Amino acid sequence: MNTQHEAGMATTHRVLILGAGYAGMAAAIQLAARVKRRDGVQVTLVNPQERFTERLRLHMTATGQQLAEMNITELLEGTGAQFVRGWVTAVDADAKTVRSDDDRVLHYDTLVYGLGSVADTTAVPGVEDYVYTLNSAQDAELLADRLARLGSGTVVVGGSGLTGIESAAEIAERHPELNVVLLGRQEPGATMNPKAKAYLHSALERLGVQVRSGVEMMKVLPDSVELAGGENIVADVVLWTSGTRMSPLAAAAGLTVDERGRIVTDATLRSVSHPEVYAVGDAAAIRQGYGVMHGTCQGGMPTGVHAAVSIARALKGRKPKPFRFGYYHTPVSLGRHDAVVQFTHPDDSPRRVYLTGRRAAWYKETVSASPWPAYGRMKKIPSSGAFWPRGGRFTRVQDAR
Ligand SMILES: Cc1cc2nc3c(=O)[nH]c(=O)nc-3n(C[C@H](O)[C@H](O)[C@H](O)COP(=O)(O)OP(=O)(O)OC[C@H]3O[C@@H](n4cnc5c(N)ncnc54)[C@H](O)[C@@H]3O)c2cc1C
Repeated sequence: MNTQHEAGMATTHRVLILGAGYAGMAAAIQLAARVKRRDGVQVTLVNPQERFTERLRLHMTATGQQLAEMNITELLEGTGAQFVRGWVTAVDADAKTVRSDDDRVLHYDTLVYGLGSVADTTAVPGVEDYVYTLNSAQDAELLADRLARLGSGTVVVGGSGLTGIESAAEIAERHPELNVVLLGRQEPGATMNPKAKAYLHSALERLGVQVRSGVEMMKVLPDSVELAGGENIVADVVLWTSGTRMSPLAAAAGLTVDERGRIVTDATLRSVSHPEVYAVGDAAAIRQGYGVMHGTCQGGMPTGVHAAVSIARALKGRKPKPFRFGYYHTPVSLGRHDAVVQFTHPDDSPRRVYLTGRRAAWYKETVSASPWPAYGRMKKIPSSGAFWPRGGRFTRVQDAR
C-alpha cells in the first residue's frame, strides 16, 4: 500500500484509477508503462477483486463455463503501479480523496474514474427482488448454480439488446432441457443490416429461443413477468439485461453527470466540472461527431489508453489531445459455435458486410480474448495500445469546449 496515498504527502503526483475493468485496466497499464522510470508519479488501481472480470464472457460464466484466471496484481508486476483491493464508497472531489469500504482514505492529484455500469434493476418493480443479473462474476455464478439445479422450466431473459441475445443463446445451447424466452422492446439485432438480422433470428430459432419483441415488461413477480396489457409470461428464472445504471458516486461527489449518471467529459476525456478527473469506459459520457458514445469494450479500452496518454503529457507540461473514436464492428455470439458479426460505420450504423457461422464465432472469440494480451503488450510497448479507428469524418467535428 502506498503510504503517500493515505497520508496525502505532496511530494509525489498521485494518480488514482477507480475500477479495473476493460477501461481502467487499460489506463493503469498504459500510464504505468509510460511513467515507470520517472520519479514522482505514483499510479494506484482500485478494484474489489484481484481477479480481472471478463465482462464480455459473463454469459459463459452464467452457464457454468470456467474462464481463465487473470490476476491484476500479476499483470501490474514490474510496472511500478500498485493495486488496492477495495470497494469505493465515496469520492470527495474538493478534498481529492476516495474512501473505500474498509474506511481507507486514498488521496489523489489526478483521478481516473472507470467504475463501469450495471444492468438497471431499478426501473421495473420486482426486478430488484426476483431477477439474476450479469453485473459481476459472482452474480453470473449464482445464475449458473440456479440453472444447473433447475432440471426443467422456463428462463426469461429480460432485454433484447446484445447482452440479452448472447445470454439467451448461450443458455439455450448449454441447457437444452430449459425453455428460453427473450423479451424486449426492440427486435433482436435491430441495428443490423437485414441479412445479418435474419441470420441472427434463424440462429435463435435453431437454438429454440422464443423471441417476443415489441413488449413492455411492467413487473417481475416470483414466478412470472407481467407485460403491458396484463399478459403474464411464466418464469422459473429471470435474467435481467435491460438498460444500464451507473454508480451514484460521481453525481454524489458533485461531478457534472448526464441524465444516466455518466460523467460528462470534454474532448480530452476530463470532467467538464473537475478537470483533474478523467472519465473512461461505460461511466463516461463522451461526445463524438456522431453523438455520445455508448458503452462498449471496443470504445472503452481506447478511452483508458487516451486518458493515460493525456495524463503523461500533462505531467510533462504538454496539452492533452482530443479523443476520437469510430466504431467498427458489433460481434454477437450465438452459443459457442455460431455468431454474427456486423461490421459498422464509425457512427455504429451497419455496413453491408457481415460474418456468420464458424468464421464469425472464431472472430468473436478472438475479440473476446484480445484485451488481456493487449495489456501485456502495452506493458512492454506502450504505443501498441494506441491503435484504434479514429472515425475519420464521423468524429472530425468536435465540441469546442
Ligand atoms: C455478457 C456481456 C457481453 C458483452 N459483450 C460485449 C461485446 O461483445 N463487445 C463490447 O464492446 N462490449 C460488450 N459488453 C459490454 C462491455 O462489457 C462493457 O462496455 C465494458 O465492460 C465496459 O468497460 P468498463 O471498464 O467501463 O467497465 P467494467 O468492465 O464494467 O469494469 C468496471 C470495474 O469497476 C469495478 N467497480 C464498480 N464499482 C466499483 C466501486 N464502487 N468500487 C471499486 N470498483 C468498482 C467493477 O468491479 C469492475 O471491475 C458486454 C457486456 C456483457 C455484460
